[in-house]
Amino acid sequence: MQRSKKIVLLSHCILNANSKIIGYSQYPGVFKEIVDIIDRLDLGMIQLPCPEILACGMKRWGKTKDQYDTKHYREMCRDILRPVVEQIYAYDKVGYEIVGVIGVDGSPSCGVNKTCLGKSQYGSISNFKTIEEIADSIIEADDPGIFMEEFMQLLTDEGFQLPFIGINEEDVFDSIESVENFLVSHTEAQ
Ligand code: SF4
Repeated sequence: MQRSKKIVLLSHCILNANSKIIGYSQYPGVFKEIVDIIDRLDLGMIQLPCPEILACGMKRWGKTKDQYDTKHYREMCRDILRPVVEQIYAYDKVGYEIVGVIGVDGSPSCGVNKTCLGKSQYGSISNFKTIEEIADSIIEADDPGIFMEEFMQLLTDEGFQLPFIGINEEDVFDSIESVENFLVSHTEAQ
């Protein structure tokens, strides 16, 4: 019986680009280059749920972290993450290793080190004269998105300390090397 007993967790859209907001994906289905690295290292994968599809469906607009920052959305994120934490618990109990979590930097939900905030991006869209004006009102912040924030807290509450990394949503191919280094170092470290 062959198995590595090592597992990595990934944001949903790394394995299913179809979940991203329309017009925002740089690969058609799976992010193959990342999956190839995971395969080379003999890691299993757990696909995290996509919180934005569950909350807003496939006709959603791009939103910012502060727009998603409601008690309801945070509780929904925790609800869908609890079964994931239970899986981590089950694997951990029999000595399997969870190598880490790969999120999506820039996302209001799945950002790890970067997310986006809206300076004044709310109210009627007619308050804005141009698309550029809306785009200009969005700023980058060095924080996790709501979903990852809740995931980190749930893991801490359950006594797990996992390393996290985010792929750069603006240019996903720019992150291949850093994800490889992250996975190699955390696989070797265990
Ligand atoms: S970044 Fe997160 S919320 Fe956005 S599409 Fe991917 S899985 Fe869904």
